[in-house]
Amino acid sequence: MSGALLPTSTAGSLPKPSWLAEPETLWSPWKLQGDALVEGKRDALRIAVQEQDHAAIDIVSDGEQTRQHFVTTFIEHLSGVDFENRETVRIRNRYDASVPTVVGAVSREKPVFVEDAAFLRQQTDKPIKWALPGPMTMIDTLHDRHYGSREKLAWEFATILNQEAKELEAAGVDIIQFDEPSFNVFFDEVQDWGVAALERAAEGLRVETAVHICYGYGIKANTDWKATLGSEWRQYEQTFPLIQRSTIDIVSLECQHSHVPMDLIELIRGKKVMLGAIDVASETVESDEEVADTLRKALEFVDAENLIPSTNCGMAPLPRHVARGKLGALGRGAEIVRRELAS
Ligand code: ZN
Repeated sequence: MSGALLPTSTAGSLPKPSWLAEPETLWSPWKLQGDALVEGKRDALRIAVQEQDHAAIDIVSDGEQTRQHFVTTFIEHLSGVDFENRETVRIRNRYDASVPTVVGAVSREKPVFVEDAAFLRQQTDKPIKWALPGPMTMIDTLHDRHYGSREKLAWEFATILNQEAKELEAAGVDIIQFDEPSFNVFFDEVQDWGVAALERAAEGLRVETAVHICYGYGIKANTDWKATLGSEWRQYEQTFPLIQRSTIDIVSLECQHSHVPMDLIELIRGKKVMLGAIDVASETVESDEEVADTLRKALEFVDAENLIPSTNCGMAPLPRHVARGKLGALGRGAEIVRRELAS
């Protein structure tokens, strides 16, 4: 990574154009088919890169334009999972969703995102980041009829994720991020095997690795859950000490407008911090100064060379103009603080 301070990034997803998928909807069905869909996804990815460029985002992602959902799209490409045979399960103890069933040994017969990542690589000279679901979040978005053990299935997924991650690295990805919102919910499992499974997924990678732990998209089930968490959200307090001792390089966390006490960041001192300075649960666009202020506060707990200004979570469910506005505020807010640090 280049030497400039406060390189900006995003947690991952951006809204899709309305000609590609229904806007402001999770699991939105594609509006195109066949070759037109393949071409449409790539056009959308190009636009996502261009919008990040205009907003001075330094570490570029694909905006997740080629996937329907951050977990299920990966799972769909694996064998051993039956997508016809769906079951309704409770995701992260929070909301019900119809999910596929594991009916046999899971394996990855071919790369899932590697071609898309190679395409992203061609679109920009900036560092690129690619997000994969984490093992624990994968098993939480499934019904298992084969393994009979969440831990066992998580280890299988970790092995599969490691294969994919190594091929993404070879395709030129600079940062591989694992999305583990489940780490904010299943604390005992995080301690028992969650972090170990995550390290297994990242094993042997030479590029930087990140874990994204958030309070979810700004959808109603998440907003309702957050209302039950009280005035201080101390979930990170349980997981951060474990992650601090792990091999993972970067932690992507939520800060803006959330009730996470900023000083919890101290628990991961030494790691790079991808700091959520943009609230994805609100359509109000932050002012540049608001972003700058969040970053200034964070700098009490993270060294400037380790701070990566980012978003709380993905922006897929937001209207496009709102997401664009938020990206712009992130870029300009980071620039304000960069100038302060230089003076
Ligand atoms: Zn998230």
